[in-house]
Amino acid sequence: MRSRVLFEGQIRPALGIFESDEVKLAPVATPLFGGDFDENLFTERVSTSKIEMICPLDVEKRPQIVCVGRNYAAHAKELGNDVPLVPKLFLKPYTTLCGPEDDILLPGHMSTLVHHEGEIALVIGKKLHGVTSENACDFIAGYTLANDVTARDVQRADGAFSRGKGFATFCPLGPWVQPLPEESSWSSMWLETWVNGERRQRGDLRDMVFPIGELLAFIAQVFPLEPGDVVLTGTPEGVGPILAGDKVEVRAQGTPSLRNRVAHGPSFLPWR
Ligand code: ZN
Repeated sequence: MRSRVLFEGQIRPALGIFESDEVKLAPVATPLFGGDFDENLFTERVSTSKIEMICPLDVEKRPQIVCVGRNYAAHAKELGNDVPLVPKLFLKPYTTLCGPEDDILLPGHMSTLVHHEGEIALVIGKKLHGVTSENACDFIAGYTLANDVTARDVQRADGAFSRGKGFATFCPLGPWVQPLPEESSWSSMWLETWVNGERRQRGDLRDMVFPIGELLAFIAQVFPLEPGDVVLTGTPEGVGPILAGDKVEVRAQGTPSLRNRVAHGPSFLPWR
């Protein structure tokens, strides 16, 4: 259970290991993903009430966010699409990343229909390029939760994903990165998205069209991945709109929820 946190009054993030209501902090120089992870460096113990959770990825390193569309058959169907024969990949810019205590900002200047998409995110722990599905999971540092926020009207109008899924704050991620469980318990896990205390999305990980090993092996034949990059594994059925003031919560078994509020984004001058 590792993450990046801000300790009371500090500006630089620290790395933390979570242990019930305490966090063990380590110097920033310790790499969170990749390299040797030395738990002995985490010496300072503070209460979780004194920290602010931030995105566990090192955003300054501009991590790649590789995503897959229609990886749950029921979700493909609800938007009137066929289940793909090979993973349908797209990228989100690193500027979409935000943390568990940040607001999702609605781009009201371009969209009136923003959807939540709760997803499981895999954080890469070792450089990978071209592996088989059998050993792909050895390259994963752990998993966390993400919301692949999507301006559905923009996505439909463009017939492409970059703009509709690329607005700033459109990838809340966190709060912790946890080791992957055994395959048997992984495949019995569920994933849900709640809005204002009401369940909107629910899926079982065993229903993924491409299981994580196959997905990662496919992706790594396209993009070389580095430690700290992340793969979003698709959203189950039940996507729907979010509005300013809503509270969105992505939940999965065995990990704390990712909770974000929705707010109005900045207003811009007309672009022409
Ligand atoms: Zn998605």
